[in-house]
Amino acid sequence: MATYHVKLLKKETIANDTMAFHWEKPKGFEFKAGQHCEMTLANSEVTKEEKKRVFSMAYAPFEKDVVTATRMSDSTFKELLKDFPEGAEVKFSEPSGDFTLHNADTTPAVFIIGGIGITPVRSIIAQATYDKMPHKITLMYSNNTPEDVAFMTDLKGFAERNSNFSFVPVMTETQAGEWNGETGFIDANMLKRHVPDISAPIYYLSGPAGMVQDMRKMLTEAGANEANIRTEEFSGYE
Ligand SMILES: Cc1cc2nc3c(=O)[nH]c(=O)nc-3n(C[C@H](O)[C@H](O)[C@H](O)COP(=O)(O)OP(=O)(O)OC[C@H]3O[C@@H](n4cnc5c(N)ncnc54)[C@H](O)[C@@H]3O)c2cc1C
Repeated sequence: MATYHVKLLKKETIANDTMAFHWEKPKGFEFKAGQHCEMTLANSEVTKEEKKRVFSMAYAPFEKDVVTATRMSDSTFKELLKDFPEGAEVKFSEPSGDFTLHNADTTPAVFIIGGIGITPVRSIIAQATYDKMPHKITLMYSNNTPEDVAFMTDLKGFAERNSNFSFVPVMTETQAGEWNGETGFIDANMLKRHVPDISAPIYYLSGPAGMVQDMRKMLTEAGANEANIRTEEFSGYE
């Protein structure tokens, strides 16, 4: 398995406690939208467990930089990453994973995503928009408040450019009057407002394991076919 040495170009805060890291794309680094890598820091003074984490690529293959994004925490890994100097290198494993858009372009795709689970999905929707893919795509993206939403501007931009894509941001901790859109937890009634035939789409769930499990249960109870649910569970989040 190849490993790649990748150089940090820049880092930025993109939402509450959330940072994006832009890496120089190394020669020969190829991936499909939706895939992930294991990142290893070079520090010799921390344990093997503390210096490795898995991250999805948040930018699409056609975009220039490789970008990862994460909710920050006080773990040793995240503390080191937060202070990581621009120009320094980490190691990336060979990209892998099958959380990628299905081929059958007459079958709609519905993404139900929590928080930082957006990373592989931003990549998939950016690439589908760029390639003018005919898939009908709906993204229901749940966060506590608008300040927690990662990639809001990008997602709105994809919806403006791609008439097949509808973006439904959902806030769980704002009141109806404070947010001009969906509020509260995603349930069958909310789903039905945006997905006319619940049995038709392939569903993609990504985010904290608890949310992924709750959404799988909600979908099957609402009439989705279990075989049409694909998931990416992010370890390390409640
Ligand atoms: C397929 C996949 C894609 C992911 N994509 C993203 C993403 O795009 N953005 C994002 O923020 N998070 C992503 N994650 C989760 C990410 O890998 C971290 O687990 C998460 O960010 C929490 O890390 P932490 O250091 O804050 O938490 P911690 O509390 O330190 O980590 C939680 C626990 O998991 C263990 N752990 C986590 N990763 C590893 C590892 N690689 N090796 C050994 N032990 C480990 C830690 O030791 C700890 O016990 C992804 C996970 C998976 C499986």
